[in-house]
Amino acid sequence: MSGLLSSRGPGWFARLGLFAFMLLPARGTHAVAASAKAPYTVVLGIAQDGGLPQAGCRKACCTSGRHENVASLALVDPGSRRWWLFDATPDFRAQLARMAREAPACSLAGVFLTHAHIGHYTGLMHLGREAMGARGMPVWAMPRMHDFLIANGPWSQLVQLGNI
Ligand SMILES: [Zn+2]
Ligand SMILES: [Zn+2]
Repeated sequence: MSGLLSSRGPGWFARLGLFAFMLLPARGTHAVAASAKAPYTVVLGIAQDGGLPQAGCRKACCTSGRHENVASLALVDPGSRRWWLFDATPDFRAQLARMAREAPACSLAGVFLTHAHIGHYTGLMHLGREAMGARGMPVWAMPRMHDFLIANGPWSQLVQLGNI
């Protein structure tokens, strides 16, 4: 039963979800008035895959002390007490901790992977038994990425152990 890591069944859902969250208000510095139960997004990071500071960069952009998490979004549905993560980044730990503060009543209900750059899926490792030990966390990915995760370690272990 590898259906939880599905690229095919909920394709329509992924498209609907991506379309829906583009229409939603983003919480943060530009808070938008919305009813308490209305879904909303949280911008969890804005940096390129390597983050900021980025390994190996000695220019002012990365030596000034500024820190930015890798680009990621949360879609929160307070009504159902769930939230979904768009991209599992190298900053997954900090981004989950932030969501525990932003939406303490809601739990992570699934992960959408937009593409296969390292900044968008390596955070999946924290779902494994060395960290969260997740049970059947749904992960949506495009077909080639789906097959890659199933066929290559350490990601394949997450599938074999039922973490994702
Ligand atoms: Zn830099
Ligand atoms: Zn990328």
